Amino acid sequence: MILSPDRIRLGASPTDKEAAIRQAAQLLVDTGSIQPAYADSMLRREGEADTFLGNGIAIPHGQRGDRGMIGQTGIAVLQVPAGVRWNGDDVATLVVAIAAQGDEHIAVLRRLTEVLGEESLARQLATTRDPQDILRALDPDAPLPQGAPAAAAMPAAGGLSAEVEAPAAAGMHARPARAVVTLAKSFQSAITLSHGGKVADARSMIALLQLGAGPAARLTLSASGPDAAAALEAMQAAFTDQLGDNDADPDAPAEAPPPPARADLPMMPGTVAGLPASPGVAVGVLFRFRSETAGFAETAADPAAERGALRAALDATRAELRDVAAEMTARIGAKHAEIFAAHAEFLDDPELVTEAEAAIARGASAPAAWQGAAERRAAALAGVGDALLAARAIDLKDVARRVLRQLVGPGAEAAALPDRAIVVAEDLTPSETANLDPAKVVGMVTSAGGPTAHTAILARAMGIPAVVAAGSGVLELPDGTPAVLDGDRGHLHPHPDDMALAAAEAAMARGKDRAEAAREAAFRPAVTRDGHRVEVAANVRQPEEALAAVAAGAEGTGLVRSEFLFHDRADPPSEDEQFDLYRRLAEGFGGLPVVLRTLDAGGDKPLRFVQHPVEANPFLGLRGLRLSLAEPALFRTQVRAALRAARHGDIKLMLPMVDGLADLRAARDIIERERAALEAPAIEVGIMVEVPSAAVMADQLAEEADFFSIGTNDLTQYTLAVDRLHPTMGARSDALDPGVLRLIDMTVRAAHARGRWVGVCGNMAADAMAAPILLGLGVDELSVSIPNVAALKAQIRALSRAKARKVAALALNCGTAAEVRALPGLLELADVA
Ligand code: PEP
Ligand code: MG
Repeated sequence: MILSPDRIRLGASPTDKEAAIRQAAQLLVDTGSIQPAYADSMLRREGEADTFLGNGIAIPHGQRGDRGMIGQTGIAVLQVPAGVRWNGDDVATLVVAIAAQGDEHIAVLRRLTEVLGEESLARQLATTRDPQDILRALDPDAPLPQGAPAAAAMPAAGGLSAEVEAPAAAGMHARPARAVVTLAKSFQSAITLSHGGKVADARSMIALLQLGAGPAARLTLSASGPDAAAALEAMQAAFTDQLGDNDADPDAPAEAPPPPARADLPMMPGTVAGLPASPGVAVGVLFRFRSETAGFAETAADPAAERGALRAALDATRAELRDVAAEMTARIGAKHAEIFAAHAEFLDDPELVTEAEAAIARGASAPAAWQGAAERRAAALAGVGDALLAARAIDLKDVARRVLRQLVGPGAEAAALPDRAIVVAEDLTPSETANLDPAKVVGMVTSAGGPTAHTAILARAMGIPAVVAAGSGVLELPDGTPAVLDGDRGHLHPHPDDMALAAAEAAMARGKDRAEAAREAAFRPAVTRDGHRVEVAANVRQPEEALAAVAAGAEGTGLVRSEFLFHDRADPPSEDEQFDLYRRLAEGFGGLPVVLRTLDAGGDKPLRFVQHPVEANPFLGLRGLRLSLAEPALFRTQVRAALRAARHGDIKLMLPMVDGLADLRAARDIIERERAALEAPAIEVGIMVEVPSAAVMADQLAEEADFFSIGTNDLTQYTLAVDRLHPTMGARSDALDPGVLRLIDMTVRAAHARGRWVGVCGNMAADAMAAPILLGLGVDELSVSIPNVAALKAQIRALSRAKARKVAALALNCGTAAEVRALPGLLELADVA
């Protein structure tokens, strides 16, 4: 057992944080989990990171390098009913010491994050006299206990009470709440404040903020205990004095704001503006990437030698692709490496190889024969008018270039990659991106491409700052030009002056620290400075990602792209097969919400086992839900599997590409019939808002859908009429366009008016400049790729909703996306990840 009764100590009263950590660690020493010196490691760790999660829970743990001192993974809980000061104003009442050798403790950690969201439960655990309460609450396999309102959260019985008024300027926001907490702690009596049917312990900042007491709201103050009269009097006086908030700017943070995280890199003359594709700042020199290979002769005299050379090049490319796939798996995960395994298939294509060998027999050189054959086949694939085959044509060109490089060597330029290179290219293929030497490349900028292109996705996964769609001017900048690349804002600054350079270097250093701090705080909820919570979830494609998502701090998944579970298969998966996948997803997320999107095939996501019609505009055709309704057997199978799996977790169904009520009703009808047949419990059924008509009709759709999630990738494509895969129009497809923002605003208002929640699961949610606007527009949940979760949570924690609202209002009234991105308030709010 990782946690057992003998690892729980109730009623402790350590004098300070160090004593608390040592006492908690001792429980692990006594039960044979760790060597005594591991306690020192836990204390050293505190110097590097804040382990306070919130709601009175702290999780001290040792430094990674000291895992050798752990005999056996263990967790111990020290209950400190009176609380022990952790950092700043944070007071810990449950000190959960963790000694982990591997991932065995993740399930308990995940459970802790649930407890964290249940304030009354956390309070109850802080004072319970029964260790079983703590064991049950942290047992990932048991249902989460309901927290009974703790005594302190009941209006202080039998005591004194009085009416008070919240500060007139801005109500009970963070600073006055903090003043109440500080004052309450100086008395022994139990003190509570009640408003709107809610009761808050005056020592709990979160509880006070959750009262939602607006400007001049009436509250009931109660106190009971030995010094109740004095407490009541002091509190009343403090309220009369507006809790120190009389001349305050309501948006001002309670403490001095942290220094800006990023460089102050204004648009200097010569700055090139593109679209942010991968965050971070890089300082380096420009290097124009040319994918050409060295020149070669068209003909050759010895066909046998040429045939041998081609075969050797094919073998060498096969080996190279295996190496690249292995390296990419290690660096960024198997999902991104699959594409290279798929490339290898072309090398065994008999028609392609036969065609090349026939050309060799006719006197062509091996490189000329190979290039000719590959180009003809790629053109044939691209010309069929089928999205799947067109994508394969790009892959074929990519792999053909690899073979050519084996035959004739790289172009002269490619060999000269300098240190700290900011690679400039028209666009990069996946293998070109993956082949870039990470020791030398510090940034990427493409003249074409878009933020949803492969380059952007791989750059993000590799952690290399990138800007796309910067226009053809970047291609004319000479090699060796010193430059700063700002992947957060989408800017390239050639020839930066000393001040800009220094600012960028400082931003890079701070960015590293921030990323580390964000990772450390990944399990803390994303609550803004003024007390507003936003759910941050992860987008996933398969059950295997659940653990990584939760470990990264995700509070569930806001988008399971289920079509990827069926990727590259000749036959549709059976109901049982799908049930197994969905059950594993639900269990992997351990009760956290799993928003399972039904098959979103068609458009840019063709499936082999679906008969996609030949369409001139596949994005405007049989896509998403339309396809599911056209293939009801396929849809029913998926729905049944999901309904069965929903017994194993919190699965919600989400319908993609809904264009109006007719399809929603038809789909709900099928879902309800399958549910009744299975006698399964009802589950929430929501829709993606990614077609403009859905946003416009959101008021009516909200009557019949349980929630909305805005797919900004498609919503942008359809609103601005720009193909999301268009090779040169990427710069036009900016989700911060006021046209898109107004549709989001419309959607959120319509949903909230009917009590529905709204998420955003498109790439926009991970754009540091978009997050404040989405928050300001009232979006309730953001779902992003796993590597972005911790940084987004950190960014939200540093924001104030009041400021976000102001900037969102300004954005809605801007004329263009560029104007939105240039809003000074926005730069400041984005300046925090
Ligand atoms: C979207 O369109 O924004 C979305 C999240 O769905 P996908 O990218 O899978 O089409
Ligand atoms: Mg979509």
